[in-house]
Amino acid sequence: MIEIQAISKWYGSFQVLADCSTHVDKGEVVVVCGPSGSGKSTLIKCVNGLEPFQKGDVIVDGISVANPKTNLPKLRSRVGMVFQHFELFPHLSVMENLTLAQIKVLGRSKAEAAEKGDHYLARVGLASQRDKFPGQLSGGQQQRVAIARALCMDPIAMLFDEPTSALDPEMVGEVLEVMVGLAKDGMTMMVVTHEMGFARSVSSRVVFMDAGRIVEDCATHEFFGNTQARSERAQQFLGKIL
Ligand code: ATP
Ligand code: MG
Repeated sequence: MIEIQAISKWYGSFQVLADCSTHVDKGEVVVVCGPSGSGKSTLIKCVNGLEPFQKGDVIVDGISVANPKTNLPKLRSRVGMVFQHFELFPHLSVMENLTLAQIKVLGRSKAEAAEKGDHYLARVGLASQRDKFPGQLSGGQQQRVAIARALCMDPIAMLFDEPTSALDPEMVGEVLEVMVGLAKDGMTMMVVTHEMGFARSVSSRVVFMDAGRIVEDCATHEFFGNTQARSERAQQFLGKIL
């Protein structure tokens, strides 16, 4: 479903990604972890072309991100992305947040979009909040709305960039629970997270990055199973967060 093929990226003379290759198969959950500044956010943004890269390619459902002929806005509309900060439109109600792109990008009618919105709002446990504004919701609720908003676009895959790291600890669980449910339903997911409990129980592979490189890419049970077999950097990292 997602093939990352030897991508490299520079900011000026600083190489932020070096020859990164990995893949996410259909229905698979892959967790990306690694120290701050290792390039995780940059990598995940390259997947839907939010960040340009100079070398390599990413193929999403058969479509090349690097090909200048590719309609990137169209591709992006099919790959859901959830960031650390919820990025809901503050001046729109929850339901308006859920329907805006459906109407503008997918051309759905208002009624059709609202029906989808209600469906996914119920799915993330927030049916009763449809007429509130983002500022009236907790961080965990806002993040669940952000996930529902992405789902309303009928994505073929979902990208998450540290979706729980800006949340108060007591709200992390409710967001992870929604993500676990998505994974169980077979959603293809690439998730940057340091929630190792989630990684261990939900992901099938773990990609570990350091200084712009993918230094580990292995089955989850291997990543956590014999930590002595991990690279020195991965061992240090695991030692700090486990
Ligand atoms: P974190 O865990 O802190 O979110 P990360 O692994 O997501 O880190 P990135 O945000 O991808 O790391 O950044 C990778 C490197 O690229 C960092 O050294 C960062 O300072 C640098 N970087 C990111 N964006 C830019 C930019 N627009 N211009 C120059 N350098 C950048
Ligand atoms: Mg990041």
